Amino acid sequence: MDDIKKAAAQFEILDYSPIGQFVLRKDNIVVFWNRCLETWSGISRDQIVGTDLITHFPHLGSDKYAESIRKVFHTSLPIVFSSQLNEYFIPSPLPGEKFRIQNTFITRIPAQKEGEYYAFFAIQDETNVMAALESNKRALSQLKEEIEVRKQAEEQLVQLARYDNVTGLANRTLLREGLLRALAKTRRNQKTFALLFLDLDHFKDINDTMGHDVGDSLLKSVADRLKGRVRENDLVARMGGDEFAILIDDCNPDGAAHVSQDILETLAPFHKLDNNEVFVSCSIGIAMCPDAGEDPESICKSADTAMYLAKKMGRNNYQFYSQELHEQTMQRIHLENDLRHALDQNEFTIFYQPKVDMNANVVGMEALIRWQHTKLGMISPDKFIPMAEKTGIISPISEWVLHTACMQIREWKNNHYLSRDATLAVNVSLRQLKQESFWDTLQKILSETELDPRYLELELTESSIMDNPQATIVLLEKIHQLGARIAIDDFGSGYSSLNYLKRLPIDTIKIDMPFVQGIGKDHNDEEIIKAIITLAKSLGLQTVAEGVETKEQVSFLHEHKCDYMQGFYFCRPMPAEVATHVLKEILSEDKLEESQHSITN
Ligand code: C2E
Ligand code: CA
Ligand code: CA
Repeated sequence: MDDIKKAAAQFEILDYSPIGQFVLRKDNIVVFWNRCLETWSGISRDQIVGTDLITHFPHLGSDKYAESIRKVFHTSLPIVFSSQLNEYFIPSPLPGEKFRIQNTFITRIPAQKEGEYYAFFAIQDETNVMAALESNKRALSQLKEEIEVRKQAEEQLVQLARYDNVTGLANRTLLREGLLRALAKTRRNQKTFALLFLDLDHFKDINDTMGHDVGDSLLKSVADRLKGRVRENDLVARMGGDEFAILIDDCNPDGAAHVSQDILETLAPFHKLDNNEVFVSCSIGIAMCPDAGEDPESICKSADTAMYLAKKMGRNNYQFYSQELHEQTMQRIHLENDLRHALDQNEFTIFYQPKVDMNANVVGMEALIRWQHTKLGMISPDKFIPMAEKTGIISPISEWVLHTACMQIREWKNNHYLSRDATLAVNVSLRQLKQESFWDTLQKILSETELDPRYLELELTESSIMDNPQATIVLLEKIHQLGARIAIDDFGSGYSSLNYLKRLPIDTIKIDMPFVQGIGKDHNDEEIIKAIITLAKSLGLQTVAEGVETKEQVSFLHEHKCDYMQGFYFCRPMPAEVATHVLKEILSEDKLEESQHSITN
């Protein structure tokens, strides 16, 4: 009996169900009998639990039923006894000697012991089998979830006290627990989370003019939209009145701003409530945690303060608790938005920086993108490329870079401003490399621009190759076979395993700028450069020194037989028209070094 008591505890949640439900053990012993069935059948739980079902309902011992019930324990397929075809399964008398018309739905559910099952009976007083099936399915999935997630019945009961009865959302208690859990988690993984406080704008007016029922329906409608807008792990709670809260796990300020913007947009369309179309907006306060508070109370207070600020700012908007964070995040988000349109609005240009050999002859050009923002002026790629990668717009942008630069190189070659063998170096980001379309795009552009692949060099950083070396090697092999060249950018700063270097189809190593700038200042840097050059030579690779700014650096690189150089000493990156001018100038002077010095002098 103790066993049965233990088993019964986990089913107590079924007492809240409006349909009759009971649980049967394989040997026909009743394990649980819910409150609804007590009323319907007139048999109390104490009378029936722990006894044989058949002794109470002899007709269930007939072949017709017994056989089917036995089967349930062996299959995961549910069985339905509809009242049209069967006598009343568990008779439930109604006044006037009538019986409740009902359908019985049976399925097996796992028992505590691995591999054992109970039969779960759900009895619905409906004539419609489909409706019965549906509602029982719901009851069952709820039950299964409960069994899996919370074994303890007490906990389940407490759970019921954690939900708001108007909207079905979590209530304050549950939110508080969620916050405690989130705080404990951030201590472990150092990730931030966000608490959003939402207050409906002018809800009181709606309540006063349209009545409380409409008010309640509106709260429900808002709750549904909020739930539909967040991830499953996020917790949406009603704090009371027209106040809601959303706890977003693993979330940075940008993420919180995006969710908030999304919520404003989700709530904007009218809510159809009976015959009324109601519009409502909300004001949102964001607390980024743990910065905004180290316990649930102070976090809520911060979010509340931020929410009042949003009200003060004219409602229908969101504000961060920290003003500094608000401004920084908004700046980034606006920039991100602008970035989406930058390509259409022709705001990108390419600057070109020559690559020279040891005699200062131009042997190639590196394409470096620039964003000419209408208000903010020139924005560096270091700032917007990561943004473009995050939002996925890197693809069209880099396709544009590749296309434009290939066309430009061809033009210079056709005009003999550049030697026939001069190469074009284009930077490729990690995200691009991972895009399945990368290979097709590359081929398409090469054929459109008719640039011989031999004159194209793709620059990749160490980290983007090491991100998924196996897959990357396959792609790089293909690119190499096409004839294009591959360079490792910023070499030395990453964590290149020299082992991989041997296996990669690389042609060039670009020595990272900080090493070059350490020449004459830092012995270690000099040693590293020497080692890189030796290593490259032994692998048959070319070396390019980046960021060359002084004569001293040039001499050192010369002495240690670096192949090529790039840097302000020779030329800064410049717009295409200026580059054309410089190239023409060199034609008459022969060397970039002399030409540069004649331009600057
Ligand atoms: P990177 O490929 O390492 O490019 C070299 C950076 O150093 C460039 O900055 C260049 O202007 C700068 N530089 C060149 N010579 C010198 C010098 O002598 N001294 C100093 N102090 N700096 C020098 P930039 O143009 O701001 O580009 C920054 C990074 O943005 C690039 O680093 C590259 O990783 C990325 N990038 C640029 N264009 C593109 C592009 O079209 N696509 C992708 N995916 N990334 C790009
Ligand atoms: Ca580069
Ligand atoms: Ca570089």
